[in-house]
Amino acid sequence: MLSDTVNSDPALTPKGIADWLECAQARLRHLAQTPGTSLGHLEIALIEELHHLGIPLLTQAATAQGQAAPFVCPRGHGPLQREAKGHRRNVDSVVGQLRLSRDYGWCAQCQDWFYPADARWGLQPNVPASPRLQEIAAEAVLKMPCAQAEKSLPRLGACTLSATTLHREARRQGQRALALQQADLKLTTTAAGIAQLASQSSAHSQPFVLILQLDAWNIRERNDWGHTAALRKKGKEPERWHWVYTATLFRLDQRGHTASKRPVISERGFVATRAGLEIFEHLVYAEALRRGLTRAAEVLVLADGAAWIWNLVENRFRRATQRVDLYHVKQHLWAVAGELYDQDKDEARQWLRPLFRQLEGKNDGAAGVLQTLKDLLRAREQMTPTQREKLAKEIGYFTTHAHRMDYARGKRRKEPLGSGAIESTCRQYQVRFKRAGQFWSLAGDESLLALETLHRNGRWQLLFAHAQPRVAECKQANQK
Ligand SMILES: [Zn+2]
Repeated sequence: MLSDTVNSDPALTPKGIADWLECAQARLRHLAQTPGTSLGHLEIALIEELHHLGIPLLTQAATAQGQAAPFVCPRGHGPLQREAKGHRRNVDSVVGQLRLSRDYGWCAQCQDWFYPADARWGLQPNVPASPRLQEIAAEAVLKMPCAQAEKSLPRLGACTLSATTLHREARRQGQRALALQQADLKLTTTAAGIAQLASQSSAHSQPFVLILQLDAWNIRERNDWGHTAALRKKGKEPERWHWVYTATLFRLDQRGHTASKRPVISERGFVATRAGLEIFEHLVYAEALRRGLTRAAEVLVLADGAAWIWNLVENRFRRATQRVDLYHVKQHLWAVAGELYDQDKDEARQWLRPLFRQLEGKNDGAAGVLQTLKDLLRAREQMTPTQREKLAKEIGYFTTHAHRMDYARGKRRKEPLGSGAIESTCRQYQVRFKRAGQFWSLAGDESLLALETLHRNGRWQLLFAHAQPRVAECKQANQK
């Protein structure tokens, strides 16, 4: 066994460091000469050894940081009466457990105890994980279930985090993200709040089109789990599937193509909630303000034909141009053609071709298509009742949505004709939230949705201040 040659945490003295180095080299040398070991074995051992040195180094730096924090109340910034020196706090960090100590004091104004160093370290009360560990846990649970992350993180060279810690952090960080979301929601209810959100939009001098795409998907929850029989006795069916309302927003000029013609959007906003339409509407509004709603020359909304979407748009974005997804419209026409031509694909295609051309190429093309459908219903006498029914239904669809089918204008202005961006967004969310055998609780899924959305919106640094690139430090490093 090699364990007897593994370092313990060294003292940060010339002798301590020399001993550490000698021990680390001895271990690596021994491993190098052991048959069957690869460079991978050396890499793992090296990281372990570096962690041993990391603990006293990080402890030293953290202690200095804690001492540099002004000894004032973090709430009211008034002076604290020093009550105790060197109170111990254990913190799990990227190199292992740190034993930190700091002073605490009494604030006469707040009538409460405070640890100024904790605030400086970015440590919330009763949380064992360091800020960086919290971030790693949050990032990991967005990518995979906790049990999987527990196994994957050490293999990826990150720290070891138990599934319990990952669960706890996922929940806590989700709650923090949710609190930020609720703050946004509150801002949308006052004029000052709306102005504050609008001021966060990036400066853009050219007139621009703001595009908003909306859709919904469903998530499976286990509320009332185990009470199915009891509920059914009361004549209630347990509801396990719930809508997650989802939106994506971007400027028309943020849309482009890769060299291989794949559509890409360079920067965009996201909204996702299963807390109902009313909250969704507020969140979409907040994100739209952040993305320049008040300065947009035009707002264009793209979606499928769902009634809730257009009600929301009428309610909140009344001046927006509305466009129903072209692909969905074509599907509706295909359904009519399939019924009329008894699923004969060739005949159906022949009937559809001029209709599609009219729809996409002519101003007011949808009105022409609608007229064709109406004429057909009147002229064709030998139609079966099913065919009539289908045709009447689609006439209804075109009557409702014809004013949302300005595809010729959209094409001229190089705008999207479909809601592909939101459909792929929904699919991406579902990859995480709809794994086989996965059930969620309302509290669990809503907070993780908030965390995922915060991440996608590029506002991760609101939870993890250290995730902000340290410009000054980078510059200094480059100059050296
Ligand atoms: Zn105070």
